[in-house]
Amino acid sequence: MKTIDSLGDLTGKKVLVRSDLNVPLDGTTITDDGRVRASVPTIQKLLDAGAAVIVTAHLGRPGGEPKPEYSLAPAAARLAEVLGRPVTLAKDLVGDSAKETVAALESGQVAMLENVRYDKRETSKVDEERAELAKELAAFADVFVSDGFGVVHRKQASVYDVAQILPAAAGLLVQKEVESLSRATTNPERPYAVVLGGSKVSDKLGVIGNLLTKADRLLIGGGMVFTFLAAKGYSVGSSLLEQDQIDTVKGYLATAEENGVEIVLPTDIEVADKFAADAEHKTVAADAIPEGWMGLDIGPESAALFASKIADAKTIVWNGPMGVFEFEAFEGGTRGVAQAMIDADGFSVVGGGDSAAAVRRLGYDEGGFSHISTGGGASLELLEGKVLPGLAVLED
Ligand code: ADP
Ligand code: MG
Repeated sequence: MKTIDSLGDLTGKKVLVRSDLNVPLDGTTITDDGRVRASVPTIQKLLDAGAAVIVTAHLGRPGGEPKPEYSLAPAAARLAEVLGRPVTLAKDLVGDSAKETVAALESGQVAMLENVRYDKRETSKVDEERAELAKELAAFADVFVSDGFGVVHRKQASVYDVAQILPAAAGLLVQKEVESLSRATTNPERPYAVVLGGSKVSDKLGVIGNLLTKADRLLIGGGMVFTFLAAKGYSVGSSLLEQDQIDTVKGYLATAEENGVEIVLPTDIEVADKFAADAEHKTVAADAIPEGWMGLDIGPESAALFASKIADAKTIVWNGPMGVFEFEAFEGGTRGVAQAMIDADGFSVVGGGDSAAAVRRLGYDEGGFSHISTGGGASLELLEGKVLPGLAVLED
């Protein structure tokens, strides 16, 4: 993969940077600025190299037309604060305002174009339409730096097509994401433990399939665990169950056995009488979930068991919360895994949007992990072993 250094001397050059600034908003207030902060090192490096930086990014799904509630204004303001220098936001993407803003831009300065998804060509399935927008974006700059890891699995104009027009390279964030996730999927140091949770088995088929034969230990929690428990013949009450995946899961259990992969399932479950923060709840054995109760977290004994399987692992990949961590009563399992990863000496990677959100929401120090991915879908696709179009286009 080409890196920024391959672009040569950037003094006086205009650099178009695709960042991922798709932050959660409450009105115009950013509730988690992780992605803004993660985009800073690349922009700073380019400024230090004497370049003028033009940032392009998306926010939400405005559906291909300008909508004020999807303006990048809050992200531009936050970026300016973190960078400690002004960020000029154009009023449009490739129109008069963008052209004027870019024309006035000098070395060491930062401009941002409005939401790239204000233009329906960005996500068009028609190659020529995307290429047309990419050409207009490319006209603003001398080189392109792809740093929006959260979108590299998308074949979109500002991610894929523009990289075919301008000399292109991966930014520092994309580089770090790819290095970390590859280290965890290709030749991992062993023992290699994979912790999987989240809502459904069917969301994670590709990930389970790819990691099943690579890991030494596969720890299963979250909503998907009930399909595993059902495959073992246990009754799961009214827990999340994918009846149509039971055979698939039986196949996983058999493959694991053949390959000597240890599958670790919870021994106890925190069950609730309803799906609510104030539900009545109790801990029961995993093979004794009562009728009418639903499992919303792994139990404390399981959390300790999982922690012990993480403690001595040299590589740990975690995707998917162990329970409904959004409710305080059911955050224990997710806490157990997060803390065990922080305490472990091994290389620890968190992939998946909700898992990363859980780490921050529960107040853990992000520095305690080797890597927390900024990309939900993109990190899952890398863990699945897929070729991502936005990365393939950056190969030498
Ligand atoms: P990620 O985004 O990290 O890949 P997912 O999107 O697969 O994770 O799953 C996250 C969601 O799974 C969370 O919102 C959480 O509440 C839910 N979840 C976890 N355990 C359960 C459970 N036992 N029952 C229902 N939902 C669950
Ligand atoms: Mg998710």
